[in-house]
Amino acid sequence: MAQPVPTAVLIVGAGPTGLVLACELARRNVACRLVDAMPQPSVASRGKGTQPRSLEVLDDLGVVDKALAGGRFHVPLRFYDADGNHHDQDIHEGHQSRPDVPYGSTLLIPQWRIEGILRERLAELGGCVEYATTLQDLTQDETAVTATLLHEGVTETVHANWLVACDGGRSTTRHLLGIAFTGETLETHRMFVGDVKASGIDREFWHAWRTDEGFVALAPLPGTDMYQFQASLHPDAPTEPSLAVFQQMLDARSNRSDIRLSDPTWMSFWRANVRMVDRYRVGRAFVAGDAAHVHSPAGGQGMNTGIQDAYNLGWKLAAVMSGVDSALLDTYEEERLPIAAWVLGMSNALLANVATTKQIAAPRNAETLQLGINYRNSRLAQEHRETPGAVHAGDRAPDAPGLRSGDHQYRLLDLFRGPHFTLLAFGAGWDDVIAQIETRHGHAIKCFTIDAPNAKESTHALLDAEGHAARGYDIHSDTMLIIRPDGYIGFATNEKAAAPALSYVAMCATDQ
Ligand SMILES: Cc1cc2nc3c(=O)[nH]c(=O)nc-3n(C[C@H](O)[C@H](O)[C@H](O)COP(=O)(O)OP(=O)(O)OC[C@H]3O[C@@H](n4cnc5c(N)ncnc54)[C@H](O)[C@@H]3O)c2cc1C
Repeated sequence: MAQPVPTAVLIVGAGPTGLVLACELARRNVACRLVDAMPQPSVASRGKGTQPRSLEVLDDLGVVDKALAGGRFHVPLRFYDADGNHHDQDIHEGHQSRPDVPYGSTLLIPQWRIEGILRERLAELGGCVEYATTLQDLTQDETAVTATLLHEGVTETVHANWLVACDGGRSTTRHLLGIAFTGETLETHRMFVGDVKASGIDREFWHAWRTDEGFVALAPLPGTDMYQFQASLHPDAPTEPSLAVFQQMLDARSNRSDIRLSDPTWMSFWRANVRMVDRYRVGRAFVAGDAAHVHSPAGGQGMNTGIQDAYNLGWKLAAVMSGVDSALLDTYEEERLPIAAWVLGMSNALLANVATTKQIAAPRNAETLQLGINYRNSRLAQEHRETPGAVHAGDRAPDAPGLRSGDHQYRLLDLFRGPHFTLLAFGAGWDDVIAQIETRHGHAIKCFTIDAPNAKESTHALLDAEGHAARGYDIHSDTMLIIRPDGYIGFATNEKAAAPALSYVAMCATDQ
């Protein structure tokens, strides 16, 4: 019998969650395998709204430009009345970029393109997806997870130090781990979804019609000649999708016969499941993304929440593999499970709002952009200031442009980009503290002073020329912040002492 193949991390499922996790591990040189049951990448547009916070993750991975080039902001919704009149609405109205928020609104872009961008990044980092490879079984003990994979009729046994289930709402892995997925199936919320070509209609709008029978919508998918088709279904309607059924629903609900659908690349029946796990970890295995939480597409949160799960777990897993105390991994569930519960509540409220107001999509608010998500209650959020300003440890680290060093200009996201921690010391007198942190953890953290008087000209001494950084972080006195690799403020102090900062970093990174 073949010997089990060892790997550091086995990731099951190469949707957006698994792909982000694989990139996060690969760029920290953690050997991982990413397997997916499908024979090839998905071509489904599914999660077509990428939120600003996810764009920041893509920025950190160095691929946001590809997403921006392949998507569109502020595509207006065009609602048609029964008499054929229409009115237009930008459901993202008012959401624009600001100095602290570089990506101000939701990007309309098909999920398959986001996945493609992540796959390319993974390839650049030396990784790949093993398609047609299905996890069938797993056991674990204190030292490893043993997984059985099936590939083209051949089974393989893998020994992994850690396993992460990113295998979607129907997760086999979650089932094998014995994790409950509690919640409900809303039989009243069902629809057909698919990707089709459509003639007789323009691509400038997301077209939507609502009748007593239900709604039908065609959203143009940027960078393609396709539309995402959506049509609500009665609870007792047949659930087999077909182009003929899509066309018949469009004709009936739009009261038009000039829009012709063709060339479907994906057709699916969807019903609302609102469910989540009660734990994110069993021994050496974790769940992430849809495997941990599912809800309605109202608000466009699912893919984005999975991306954030992976972004939260990746650096912690890599740190523990490099020798950091494994207690760090407990903070994954501590931080992400409350977010899943919050997202389920929010998307339910948006779904109810859409139903009562008879809209097609709810106007987006600051919450749906995922920028306000914070981990203030986490043990990794250490707020040592007696009177912090509006921005606390545990909050998302805002961006700030206009940081000058000699002839160069930076924005904070430039400094954060990469797998490291970032120390920002505002004001004077931090040199000794910084020297001690660099001596012990210099491989894991990059340190910068901002507006330090008499600072020597160096790339580590920055001038907040337009005051964006001080404003964005609400800084009014000398302050030192440590930003986590996933872009959250972990530690904040006014005190010029190295010990608390050193013990904070030691929870997350090894010594030199
Ligand atoms: C109509 C619709 C609209 C949506 N709109 C949005 C939106 O605007 N914004 C948003 O954020 N989200 C949206 N979503 C949700 C989004 O598509 C999902 O939340 C997202 O795909 C979850 O990503 P994931 O990687 O966790 O799981 P998935 O994308 O489901 O990937 C799981 C992968 O695991 C693989 N797999 C399963 N079992 C196994 C196994 N045993 N072994 C190996 N591999 C396995 C599967 O083949 C699959 O590739 C929408 C969904 C739908 C249906």
